[in-house]
Amino acid sequence: MDEPPEKNGEDLWKKVVVFCRGMMETDADRSKMERYFPQFVSHRFVDGEYHIGVPGETEVDWFAPLYSDIISKALEATGVPDTKVKFVVDSSAAPLRPAPKMYNTEKQAAPAASRAPLFSSTLPLDPLYTFENFVRGPSNSFAYAIATAVAKNPDTNNYNPLFIYGGTGLGKTHLMESIGNYINKKNPKKSVCYITSETFLNKYVEALANDSINEFRARYRNIDVLLIDDVQFIAGKEKIQEEFFHTFTQLMTCNKRVVLTSDVPPKDLSGLESRLISRFQQGTVVQVEAPSYETRLAIIKVKVKAASLMVPEDVQRWIAENIRSHVRALEGALSIAEAFLESNPDIPLTPEALKHLMKDLIEEERALRNLSVNEIISRTAEFYGVTVKDILSPERTQPLVTARQMAMFLSVKLTTCSLPAIGKAFDKNHSTVHHGAGNIQKRIDVEPELMNALEEITTRLGRKMSDVLA
Ligand code: ADP
Ligand code: MG
Repeated sequence: MDEPPEKNGEDLWKKVVVFCRGMMETDADRSKMERYFPQFVSHRFVDGEYHIGVPGETEVDWFAPLYSDIISKALEATGVPDTKVKFVVDSSAAPLRPAPKMYNTEKQAAPAASRAPLFSSTLPLDPLYTFENFVRGPSNSFAYAIATAVAKNPDTNNYNPLFIYGGTGLGKTHLMESIGNYINKKNPKKSVCYITSETFLNKYVEALANDSINEFRARYRNIDVLLIDDVQFIAGKEKIQEEFFHTFTQLMTCNKRVVLTSDVPPKDLSGLESRLISRFQQGTVVQVEAPSYETRLAIIKVKVKAASLMVPEDVQRWIAENIRSHVRALEGALSIAEAFLESNPDIPLTPEALKHLMKDLIEEERALRNLSVNEIISRTAEFYGVTVKDILSPERTQPLVTARQMAMFLSVKLTTCSLPAIGKAFDKNHSTVHHGAGNIQKRIDVEPELMNALEEITTRLGRKMSDVLA
């Protein structure tokens, strides 16, 4: 039987994508989806089933549990109910390209046969989040070392639980999933469960509604390795914390492995029960920090090389210099560069061209690094070897006045706060700020030493001279 033509069309797929996006539970799920859906080469009805083409068996194994149900629900929502969704190998598909459309195309997932049976409540691990694909630098080498130690010795109780924290896009999930992938490969008998705390919460609510709380408990309390991502989401949610505490305690008592990630260290997880915080602290707490310029450049080079991108050296350096907030943003910049290269094969890619294309990303960077007046005061005080209290005091001795006025000048230039608001932070009035900032503006033109000081503090604040001289 022929299917109605619109069912096979791109329009239907577009609708499916929109519905799927709406059904993703977390931002991370959404960004994963955005990354992989465009790489499905075909989507069409074959004998009443909806077939989605992917490059190989590994991808079939990986995507089927991840997206079949959700795509089927999306089809239902577009008016095509009860459709079996099947991932199939399509020889026209290019090898899978991970986030964004670049880097390592080597497939590192263990062959299906040696993999542990998929634990029913785990989210599938991204096969490209491996230790090999993780670039080390001073900002993450300690976290990396501990994570590999955990992966290599899942049976010992060292570093248990492991708590990885740090800002968004700095590689926490990548490291955590690397642990899972490593254990799945080397110890296929171990059951590894990777889940975000948000999904854990949703499954719990679902279990309560279905009266299946006992099954829920049994499931999560009988695993060997629990990887729980973005634990900050359960802060402030008491009931789930209770449940989580018991799961956690049970696993720890049986010497099972627990790894957690969060955007802040345990002590700063406000809204989290103190017994959970102290449990987290009993293990090892490691931080991933924002990568330095050198590490950013190294990450760019690895990704450029793996994807055989023709990104000139000066453009690579420009990206490393200008995109500082997190690694995901570096990847975003590289995919913009890649898109440019694909669509303009005859035009050289220059930093200027990229700068123009990346306006939005750069704006976002600025917003992300929005500084507070307090941060500026504290960094400036540190530079001059005085205290924040000195800066805020009424004292008018010379070195102190310079430090104070420097902090005022930087606050005017680097924040969007009004003069009265800045004055308030300094415990002064707005005209004092106006006068102080103006004074520095005049002096830097004639005092090279003061200009050097300005440059140093600006760098420490993660900003460029063009930001303060504008
Ligand atoms: P987080 O969980 O901290 O928000 P992710 O682990 O999702 O960050 O990392 C964001 C993206 O940056 C991912 O695609 C990840 O592979 C990549 N990434 C982060 N750190 C590194 C690194 N050191 N080397 C290579 N890729 C990295
Ligand atoms: Mg993450």
